[in-house]
Amino acid sequence: MDEGKLEQIRQLLLKIKVDLQEQEKNFKEDANPVELDQTKVGRISRMDAMQIQQMALDASRRRQLQLVKADSALKRIESSDYGYCLSCDEEIDIRRLMVDPSNTLCIICAEKMDA
Ligand SMILES: [Zn+2]
Repeated sequence: MDEGKLEQIRQLLLKIKVDLQEQEKNFKEDANPVELDQTKVGRISRMDAMQIQQMALDASRRRQLQLVKADSALKRIESSDYGYCLSCDEEIDIRRLMVDPSNTLCIICAEKMDA
């Protein structure tokens, strides 16, 4: 992969990380465990409040996973392993990487995994 593209992807990954970290920070600040005190929850029932909290936790877990993936993609860029399918070692289509730079599989292997 040419240097320009690689640098573009590196910047993209760094931006993804910053965004995720920002969201995560906001999440932690709001996450004083959902206020279950009925007087403050108002019309939201306890069940709803718990469901909202669960969704927020799921979203947070997804972000953490994405962060790990972004980090490992950055490491692969540094070690020049970036852009190769982890399964078959073929080059991953650049368009695929531009959509999600933390992709580790080529389209063929990804489809196999999904199947
Ligand atoms: Zn592959």
